[in-house]
Amino acid sequence: MRVVCNGNPALRVKSLPVMSITDEIRELARRMIVTMKENELPGVGLAAPQVGINKRMIVIDTRPTGRKEKRSEKKKQLSPGEMLLNPLMPLALVNPEILSTSAETETCGEGCLSLPGVEGDVTRPARVLLRAMLLDGKEVMVECGGLLARCLQHEIDHLDGILFYDRIPKEQQEAANDIMAELAAEEAMLASAQRKV
Ligand SMILES: [Zn+2]
Repeated sequence: MRVVCNGNPALRVKSLPVMSITDEIRELARRMIVTMKENELPGVGLAAPQVGINKRMIVIDTRPTGRKEKRSEKKKQLSPGEMLLNPLMPLALVNPEILSTSAETETCGEGCLSLPGVEGDVTRPARVLLRAMLLDGKEVMVECGGLLARCLQHEIDHLDGILFYDRIPKEQQEAANDIMAELAAEEAMLASAQRKV
């Protein structure tokens, strides 16, 4: 599947809830996971609008890599969400919602498969209470921290038409504006080429 980039209208609208988990939804999840993994810079998350489909579904894989684990000297305690969901990853979450957030925040560099070349620092709550449905129809409600909490907030933003670019400091936005404009021009070209086919 093609990951759409800045300028594609699918990235800027509020996506609609998934009404029932059909074969079509399961197939979309499977293809989104392949798309997330096959990228040169493998993503840790992908939202359906990023493949041009405005449905409230995301796929995630925020399991720690061996390399990163060695680097962090003190082993951080995993949040309940990481303990529950890491063994299920890569994982699709249907109609994910954040019910509450911690007052404590963390600032961290982010990137996005839909904004290649753009980077910036985003401040987000350190922990979130997630409610979502899994593809087998089970509902999960669990407190998530670490990279999982950040990734969930980034991906659920996509479902509401929000890009991480919107949340970075003004000077970083200004530094990214040339790339944002180039991406939008490429998207416009692809869209008009598709109309002609
Ligand atoms: Zn993104």
